[in-house]
Amino acid sequence: ERQKLARLRHTPAVTLDGERVELLANIELPADAAAALEAGALGVGLFRSEFLFMNRGGELPGEDEQFEAYRAAVEAMNGLPVTIRTVDIGADKPLDRMSASELRHEHALNPALGLRAIRWSLSEPGMFRQQLRAILRASAYGKVRLLIPMVAHLSEAKLTMEALARAKQQLADAGKPFVDIEVGAMIEVPAAVLMLPAFLRYFDFVSLGTNDLIQYTLAIDRADEAVAHLYDPWHPAVLGLIASTIQQARAAGKHVSVCGEMAGDPAFTETLLGMGLRSFSMHPAQIAAIKQRILRSDARRCSASVRDLLLGGAGVPMEPAQRASTRNG
Ligand code: PEP
Ligand code: MG
Repeated sequence: ERQKLARLRHTPAVTLDGERVELLANIELPADAAAALEAGALGVGLFRSEFLFMNRGGELPGEDEQFEAYRAAVEAMNGLPVTIRTVDIGADKPLDRMSASELRHEHALNPALGLRAIRWSLSEPGMFRQQLRAILRASAYGKVRLLIPMVAHLSEAKLTMEALARAKQQLADAGKPFVDIEVGAMIEVPAAVLMLPAFLRYFDFVSLGTNDLIQYTLAIDRADEAVAHLYDPWHPAVLGLIASTIQQARAAGKHVSVCGEMAGDPAFTETLLGMGLRSFSMHPAQIAAIKQRILRSDARRCSASVRDLLLGGAGVPMEPAQRASTRNG
């Protein structure tokens, strides 16, 4: 069994009909990079940087400390891409620091709908630029991609690009090395899917955060036990939004990945393949199981089943292909 797993680690994830699939790892701290490599990941699809900020008893990591952490992850991955997400603080990931924004957060009635992720970063411009500089500096040591959580407003894309330009200027002025990095958006709020063409003009790639996409589409708090039975990834509205995102991103020639829990659950592998997904990012421990699933799948058959699934879904008004062409046309 051990030998089988070791062999599997070096086997490329290719479907029976020859479609190559990229399997990436989700990590929380630089030390997790070892597990990602051990599992045969082709890179890090999601580095949840907020874990550097949590459980520190009030003190936050400065630019240099963040830079060292990002550089450690990038160097450990040895030239493979590392997608660093800016802090997704708030909601289920509170910050133990008493700032004005934190006080506002503590009093928020609906923290999942409150000041979290990119909203929080844009409300703390100094800290946002500090993180952007740390991430940019790590780009001198390997392949870094920047990922922005929870975008819902075009103004957030615009302000992010401005903050990034300013961070680059500051580094250039200080003579610190960095390279141009790709910038991606987490697609995890339905509004972002509904106006994806506009967001695709700003971003180089997208990554579907299905955990939050399900929460926000179905109005189900992902942490509330009382409604856990209604948290349904198979809901036709959820599947329609995921399919539509993959289809539109591909049509626009932009890299698209799924980094929510669905990517690491073998029950969804064939459905996602059938929707045209060729990049999955998950907990390192899931990579072997997903790879085995892919090796036994026929991508063309998967897309035929997905067509039936989406057309059968009462919540999907149009076939995704039709929807995409209407938008683009
Ligand atoms: C998601 O929402 O699917 C996601 C990957 O981000 P997080 O679980 O960290 O919110
Ligand atoms: Mg999320």
